[in-house]
Amino acid sequence: MPQNFNDIKSKTVCSDCGGKEMVLGYTASEGAIHKKTSVLGMEAYSRATTKVMVICKNCGLVVKSYAENPQKL
Ligand SMILES: [Zn+2]
Repeated sequence: MPQNFNDIKSKTVCSDCGGKEMVLGYTASEGAIHKKTSVLGMEAYSRATTKVMVICKNCGLVVKSYAENPQKL
């Protein structure tokens, strides 16, 4: 079940600066989370899901990060 990231964002407080204003960041394409598989006996990685980060807007700390769809891993 994908998380409600907007809900998480509104409840998160920065552990570093105490800031309460959070933004969401995403690592898609090459920065996505991949799962390890094998192709013809060789290790391979296939893109599984986007990584979603909850970032403090004040200091930039990545407070939390999540796999958007962990069931795809
Ligand atoms: Zn902060």
